[in-house]
Amino acid sequence: MSLDFDGARLPNPYLTEDHEAWRDQLRKFIDSELMPYANQWEEDHKVPDEIFPKAAEVGMFAVGYPEAYGGLTEGLDVWHGNIIYEELARLGAGGVGAALTVHGISLPTILKLASEEVKQEVGPAVISGEKRISLAVTEPGAGSDVAQLITTAVCDGDFYIVNGSKTFITGGMYSSWASTAVRTGGEGLGGISLLLIPLDAEGVSRTQLDKKQGWWASDTATLYFDNVRVPVGNLVGNENEGFKAIMGNFNLERMQLIVSMEAFARVCLEDAVKWAQERKTFGKTLSQHQVIRHKIADMKQRINATQAYIQVCSKQLMDGKPNAGDIAMCKVQASQTMEFCAREAMQIMGGISYIRGNRVERIYREVRVNAIGGGSEEIMRDLASRQYGF
Ligand SMILES: Cc1cc2nc3c(=O)[nH]c(=O)nc-3n(C[C@H](O)[C@H](O)[C@H](O)COP(=O)(O)OP(=O)(O)OC[C@H]3O[C@@H](n4cnc5c(N)ncnc54)[C@H](O)[C@@H]3O)c2cc1C
Repeated sequence: MSLDFDGARLPNPYLTEDHEAWRDQLRKFIDSELMPYANQWEEDHKVPDEIFPKAAEVGMFAVGYPEAYGGLTEGLDVWHGNIIYEELARLGAGGVGAALTVHGISLPTILKLASEEVKQEVGPAVISGEKRISLAVTEPGAGSDVAQLITTAVCDGDFYIVNGSKTFITGGMYSSWASTAVRTGGEGLGGISLLLIPLDAEGVSRTQLDKKQGWWASDTATLYFDNVRVPVGNLVGNENEGFKAIMGNFNLERMQLIVSMEAFARVCLEDAVKWAQERKTFGKTLSQHQVIRHKIADMKQRINATQAYIQVCSKQLMDGKPNAGDIAMCKVQASQTMEFCAREAMQIMGGISYIRGNRVERIYREVRVNAIGGGSEEIMRDLASRQYGF
């Protein structure tokens, strides 16, 4: 039995030949169009614009979205979506995946709750890779505690006048829109609305957060809104029900992170095993030292557990019965697995793993953004404990 990326996958009873064919065509695209350049894009801090329509052509942006807006649903399920994130993780460059899939945390809500006009404007443009959309919730003074946000949108006839700022916004430098959490009502979560802000509007400015630990190929922005006039028709869902709208996509967003983290852990396992079988110390290969074999077994044990857990949560989603508590705990399971495997792979690979340009080195630097973003480990445990009623 091999412990390469595919060999380290547990049997998954939900996968069919169709899923594997979907994986194959994605892998061909990723291996030819992304893999050879991922290192350079990380160093350049950008995925070239022309890659987006190419990724769209293989269906990477369409899965699960209604066909009326350019999406694909016929014959596709949760697993086709998961496979996109698994395959992108093989790059060992989370920034490339984050740049390409940033719409995944906002477009589902737009296509569910926005006006028909907005859906027609945004959906086809994003799904075809022509334009991008970000989600802007976090502010300098409001991260986990969304209720603290102070960016305001005041209704003035046919427009909202928006003032404030958002930070840590993935894709924010190049996106055409930000689906933005704004305060339209009183204090707390009940005063928040979701507003689609065109980022070329007068009064919007953006600066890049360039000094990140990881995810270099994905741009991260601070957005400033200075008396920005946004048509009232850009309200997404009902006024003051924005938090509910954002929450509606949390399970999907977390599953995307979870699937990616498990796959990053498998990349670490693959590269560590390959190295351990080749590298000799004290007269034998690393893999012949029991201590190293135990490290590999420990990695595989955690990966197995995470995969089995992902199967349970994905099945819940397939059945339309996601359990937010289970998904929250699965996110913690996945980030701890990624963290453990990145650490152990670096130990096994020794000094070489510390030199920039290899997958394990990058994944090690990308652990924290996964453990904090999309709901931190602490917030996930808290959410789960409330869902489980203790
Ligand atoms: C690279 C990157 C990309 C991002 N992309 C986006 C994006 O596209 N859109 C967007 O809106 N945001 C984005 N974020 C922001 C991200 O969602 C926040 O960083 C996250 O929500 C945590 O908020 P915070 O950083 O303000 O930490 P805080 O909320 O200040 O928390 C700090 C620490 O305290 C812990 N903590 C907080 N409250 C509690 C509590 N009640 N009990 C115990 N512990 C607690 C947290 O777990 C965390 O460890 C991104 C962040 C990064 C780093």
